[in-house]
Amino acid sequence: MNRKNNVANWIPYLIVMLALVSLFSMNMGTETQTLSYNDLQKVVASDNTDKVTVSISSNITTVSGQYTEDGKTVAFEGTIPSTSEAIETILSSTEKKAVTIVDADASNLFVDALLTLIPFVFMAGLAVWMINRMNGAQSANGKAFEFSKSRARLEGKVRVRFTDVAGCDEEKQEMAEIIDYLKFPKKFEKMGARIPKGVLLAGHPGTGKTLLAKAVAGEANVPFYSISGSDFVEMFVGVGASRVRDMFKKAKETAPCIIFIDEIDAVGRQRGAGFGGGHDEREQTLNQLLVEMDGMEENTGIVVVAATNRPDVLDPALLRAGRFDRQITVSLPDRKGREAILRVHARNKHISEEVDLGALAKRTPGFSGADLENVLNESAILAVRHNEESISMADVDEAIDRVMMGPAKVSRTYDDKTKKLVAYHESGHAIVGLFLDNAQVVQKVTIIPRGQAGGYNLMTPKEEKMMDTKNDLLATITSYMGGRVAEETFFDDVTTGASNDIERATNIAKDMVTLYGMSDLGPIKYNSASQNVFLGRDYNSPNNVSGQVAFEIDQEVRKIVNLCHDKATEIIGSHKQELVRIAEALMEYETLTSEQIQRVVNGEDISADFETKSAGKPAEEATQNA
Ligand code: ADP
Ligand code: MG
Ligand code: ZN
Repeated sequence: MNRKNNVANWIPYLIVMLALVSLFSMNMGTETQTLSYNDLQKVVASDNTDKVTVSISSNITTVSGQYTEDGKTVAFEGTIPSTSEAIETILSSTEKKAVTIVDADASNLFVDALLTLIPFVFMAGLAVWMINRMNGAQSANGKAFEFSKSRARLEGKVRVRFTDVAGCDEEKQEMAEIIDYLKFPKKFEKMGARIPKGVLLAGHPGTGKTLLAKAVAGEANVPFYSISGSDFVEMFVGVGASRVRDMFKKAKETAPCIIFIDEIDAVGRQRGAGFGGGHDEREQTLNQLLVEMDGMEENTGIVVVAATNRPDVLDPALLRAGRFDRQITVSLPDRKGREAILRVHARNKHISEEVDLGALAKRTPGFSGADLENVLNESAILAVRHNEESISMADVDEAIDRVMMGPAKVSRTYDDKTKKLVAYHESGHAIVGLFLDNAQVVQKVTIIPRGQAGGYNLMTPKEEKMMDTKNDLLATITSYMGGRVAEETFFDDVTTGASNDIERATNIAKDMVTLYGMSDLGPIKYNSASQNVFLGRDYNSPNNVSGQVAFEIDQEVRKIVNLCHDKATEIIGSHKQELVRIAEALMEYETLTSEQIQRVVNGEDISADFETKSAGKPAEEATQNA
């Protein structure tokens, strides 16, 4: 905070204090003796009195003055009625003293006027000061009066570099060209190349879109205006549009530069699909954005980079050539990418030798960069909690489970029957994974409740694939069915614990029928009515399947799920022994890894694993049992 601001902060206190002081002095003045009518006459007549003021007003006349007593001067004051006799009596008793006669009404008028004015002046001053403060560039939060200014923040020195963005090599290469252009525009002009005005980064949340855009600015070393789509949207119609205008004006002054619009879907939604007219403001904003991008002459040196995780809801006008004509999909990292991201974030962490980042990457398919960062951060926090010197593999293990499912609910205890049910349910999943080709491999299974789930099962594909075959999908549904089938087989009863499995299995089956054409209904895409109308799309597009076809879809879905259910029953039926072994081990040790499961199934004794663990790591055991 600068000095000027400091002074400004004190102004209201100063004003209040001044006002108080002036009021105080007006009322009290110096100490004055108040005299009764009789005493007053005596004092006025006395020889010691040397100064008398008579101020006459319409009702009461005030007589004041001072006299000397024992060498001290004493001020006195008293009132008399404003009758001519009373005044005359006083005046006559003053005799030869210096008497001042004042018309009190006249002077009071002036004082009254002044007094009534003071609050107004005070209020007006305060108002002016507040508005000034709110508009002032130095104030960080008081922007209420700054409607039409663009909210774009100019980030002068961006520290992020390409080395901080791991994994997205293709994406980085695309962006490298933009950097090259911002640095050496002449090279491109000479060749007659038109550099795209807009680049759209699309991809899952947390895949590093914002990070990538920042890295571009950091590498190019040009001004970087960053604004979020929602900053355009305000209560007042027209504000967004003027903000867009202002932003481009500012950018033109500092070209070459990058304008980064994060979460552009907040303004770039398809037009004309809103509810109840509430979208007018957004449409105006979007129109203005389109106009500005069109108005930009070629190669002005401004590159607009936008990011969204919903490219499908964007207005087509935004995506046409000349606007955001280059789309870069930032995809979820593959195994190599994940390892690279883990390395980037492990740079500033104390990680023990035993932690194998490569193996970690293998175990975390589907994790985004943000998830991986979160895993490492969680494991660092856990290491601190356990008073360890560096982050151990157990910390990382626990962190992965936490990120996926929430913290373990070690305090929630099962009764023995529930524990057995959960153990058999989870073992059912594990058995299907082990004995069905194409099915996902169980990496870890636990019966410690976590988040919503009673127990859980981390399954990953054997290899990472670009796409799934029909058999892969069927195998996946079968592994989801494994839990329920185990309940049926061993308890002759079913639990509510399988609802999540059932939901996921049903969704896959539905997609197989309506999207992938993997059923007897043939390779036709059937719209489902489940699309969310609030996403601004498909509001009016009806469920374009007839009742008959909807019925057939349901039948096909049921056929697929039933088929997988039967398959799971068959597998579990022929591997009952192995399943019981896993379940018993689970009830004893609560958590098993894929390698331990394999050993249990082979009939090996794994108790040694847990003995050394508990002996070697008392701290961890203590918290686990807490
Ligand atoms: P989004 O795509 O949602 O904009 P961000 O760019 O904000 O995601 O990423 C969130 C965080 O995730 C980053 O701050 C970074 O720590 C981490 N992250 C994501 N992707 C990567 C990556 N490729 N390399 C390194 N860190 C990444
Ligand atoms: Mg982002
Ligand atoms: Zn289950």
